[in-house]
Amino acid sequence: MRADADRSRAVGQDLRGLVRGDVLFDEIDRVLYSTAACMFELWPLGAVAPVDAGDVQAVLRYARARGIPVTARGGGTGVAGQSVGEGIVLVFTRHLHRIRGIDPGGRRVEVDPGVTLQELNAALAPHGLRFPPDPSSGDAATLGGMIGTNAAGSHTLKYGTVKDWIESLSVVLDTGEQATFRRGVPVAADAASSPRLAEIAASMRALLEARRDLLERVRPRVTKNSCGYNLFELAGRDGLDLVPLLAGSEGTLAVITGATLRVDPKPVHVATLRILLDALEKVAPVVEALRAHGPSGIELIERAMIDLVRGGDAAMADEVPPATRSALLGEFDGLDEREVDDRAAAAAAAVRASGLALEVRVATTERERRQLWALRKKASPLLERLPGPRRSTRLVEDGVVPPARLADYVRGLERLFERRGVDAFLFGHAGDGHLHVNVFLDRNDPYDRRLMRILMEEVTDLLRSLGGTLSGEHGDGLMRAGYLERLFGPELMGVFRDVKRIWDPAGILNPGKKVPIEGEDFVSRIPARPRPLRRTTLH
Ligand SMILES: Cc1cc2nc3c(=O)[nH]c(=O)nc-3n(C[C@H](O)[C@H](O)[C@H](O)COP(=O)(O)OP(=O)(O)OC[C@H]3O[C@@H](n4cnc5c(N)ncnc54)[C@H](O)[C@@H]3O)c2cc1C
Repeated sequence: MRADADRSRAVGQDLRGLVRGDVLFDEIDRVLYSTAACMFELWPLGAVAPVDAGDVQAVLRYARARGIPVTARGGGTGVAGQSVGEGIVLVFTRHLHRIRGIDPGGRRVEVDPGVTLQELNAALAPHGLRFPPDPSSGDAATLGGMIGTNAAGSHTLKYGTVKDWIESLSVVLDTGEQATFRRGVPVAADAASSPRLAEIAASMRALLEARRDLLERVRPRVTKNSCGYNLFELAGRDGLDLVPLLAGSEGTLAVITGATLRVDPKPVHVATLRILLDALEKVAPVVEALRAHGPSGIELIERAMIDLVRGGDAAMADEVPPATRSALLGEFDGLDEREVDDRAAAAAAAVRASGLALEVRVATTERERRQLWALRKKASPLLERLPGPRRSTRLVEDGVVPPARLADYVRGLERLFERRGVDAFLFGHAGDGHLHVNVFLDRNDPYDRRLMRILMEEVTDLLRSLGGTLSGEHGDGLMRAGYLERLFGPELMGVFRDVKRIWDPAGILNPGKKVPIEGEDFVSRIPARPRPLRRTTLH
């Protein structure tokens, strides 16, 4: 029996008298919520599946009075350890998963936090609408979790990230008070109804005013960032719109109980370009050439991954020349088939005219598009089958640099992995300078566990030197929280700590995420034991 079994039982008993939702404090529940789609394992005391905001209020009031951590949880697909915690886990997928209303004319939708992206898009489809940010985990990722990490997908270039589509958020604050944050509406206007909100608004305003110069100076010059607290978008604005801060805050500032989101017409047609290049230096000018024609996304596949696919698939070996160093997949979408195809054709012509490409192919039907995407899609199963105890590990998997520095980032990573004797496979969203890295490590090997810390430090330093950030969409969680100071410097880290203190002085909201717990070593939270085989590679 676990040492905290009595405490777990007592807390569960208390909560049964306080909430209407499910109180899940059996050992099996604790096991279930101790892990997520990440390497970490943290046993909660138990979980509560609230039926409404009132239940969330009751849990927060109870937890705050006793200093018990509370971790909000959606689909549990967060990869950086942000959806596990040692106190009470709030499970939103059991009851709070209703779509409360669709306004097709106004192109907006009101959702519970536990609705998955797939469910939302299925409900929007009959209206010809969809929610544009498209993480590839959308079958399980919830809107609450996607707001929690400010998720994105392959089409950020055109559609931005989740924060860009939020109209308003209903939340429960640390004290159990409810509050609503509306995009573009200064918080002060709403503060009269909640003393706690008024306090938060006043403190945030003072902090932003005092640190305006610092925030402008250290703001990462990247197009995508889920690292640290998003204060950069708040500083220098009139009024105090806190929605961009809550997006990506990983449940460390407030718990979301509802959201009103903007939605968009579903594109009726997509065309894809596949461009093969023999030199990394050619990526940036080709990306620039494509951008002139309004692509929705530009994906990059790097050499190790290309060689892996060529080596494992005879048809691909024939189709893709051995000299291929980098491949780009440009996507064009829209509401008019002809217009989309014309743009794709113009982009292809521009790249051909530049003389930079080994080959340019255009696909305008679903079947042709699937063929071009095969170079990317065939990689994941091949990565799974690589021999040896080292497996694809999400560690430094989400770095972003200014797009013009992408080649420097790729070269820097390759040098670093070679020096450390580690295999790695790179792909990503070239239009945003955003790279996903599958690095192969054995978490049961003490040497590799040490290597995890070293790689984290070295990649952080590399990103810092290039003006980048550690996460473009996956967030910080337990894994990156301890490296934010190294990336952003002590001054900005101090401001992040101030933000946390303003919103959650008792430190009960998902502690250890965004702001690290003193002395915490993320590797010690990764169980060193064999796990059942499961999908580990990234989208
Ligand atoms: C195979 C795979 C592919 C992926 N592809 C992508 C991708 O393409 N793009 C991308 O951005 N990410 C991707 N991810 C990461 C992950 O899917 C996203 O981070 C997603 O947004 C998490 O949603 P979730 O519902 O699973 O949230 P969870 O993992 O449950 O939670 C994520 C964070 O949000 C917080 N949170 C959850 N609900 C609430 C709430 N109600 N109030 C406040 N905070 C809350 C949690 O506390 C946690 O900090 C992928 C993951 C996997 C496993």
